[in-house]
Amino acid sequence: MDLLPTYGDRWQSTLYWQPSDRHQQSFQRLYDAILLANQQVNLTRITTPDDFWEKHLWDSLQGVAPWLKDAEASAQPLKVIDIGTGGGFPGLPVALVFPHWAIALLDATRKKIAALETVCETLGIANVSYLPQRAEQVAHQPTHRETYDLALLRAVGPVNTCAEYALPLLNLGGQAVLYRGQWSAAEEAALTAILPRLGGKLRSVRSQSTPLTQGVRHNVVLTKIDRTPDKFPRLPGIPAKTPLV
Ligand code: SAH
Repeated sequence: MDLLPTYGDRWQSTLYWQPSDRHQQSFQRLYDAILLANQQVNLTRITTPDDFWEKHLWDSLQGVAPWLKDAEASAQPLKVIDIGTGGGFPGLPVALVFPHWAIALLDATRKKIAALETVCETLGIANVSYLPQRAEQVAHQPTHRETYDLALLRAVGPVNTCAEYALPLLNLGGQAVLYRGQWSAAEEAALTAILPRLGGKLRSVRSQSTPLTQGVRHNVVLTKIDRTPDKFPRLPGIPAKTPLV
């Protein structure tokens, strides 16, 4: 098995946080288990130690940087959903670092979720649950609708599609972090135009560059300020095919 880098100084200079030795061990075990599972199910193409460190570990955690920095805020036991988790990102690194948060891993591809279940059982990750379903369906189920404090979405589609998946799942005051690469004024204008219909508001746009390859990252953070009308999200497939305008 390949050894993951530590890069303590990079964590510190970018996120003002450093993994403990225990975190580093759990990252290594996660890396080994994901690579093993990847032989059966296509979970990720990011497999070298440096790429995994930057694009999976660092990137997953940069989206929750405000909680990494603020011990008081992160002490709250948040109910979190990772929508379109794929190979478990950003949800699994977040679950490892915030063991008192409950993280639901949602993905429409059943075999990816089954593979993540095996990974988490092997690693003893107990603060996760599994939703092998579409976001559009889960968001209409009373046990899930308007129950989450935090929604995380990385690489799940156009920003207006992501907003339509996430906002119905958030409770009032809840936040969604949309992990984006490039971010434009046009995207921001199109997003802010539709948020009121979903009960959401743009809270902030934070930018970062990735510490090893200087890639562009933006976190678009939404807050739920009003109940979402029952008609959202629309039927499965529609939010991606015809994003709200
Ligand atoms: N978040 C991961 C995976 C991104 S790939 C990462 O950044 O590495 C996008 C994933 O979203 C795929 O696994 C796909 O199955 C899932 N997905 C796309 N639309 C979805 C939907 N409407 N409901 C649930 N999962 C969805």
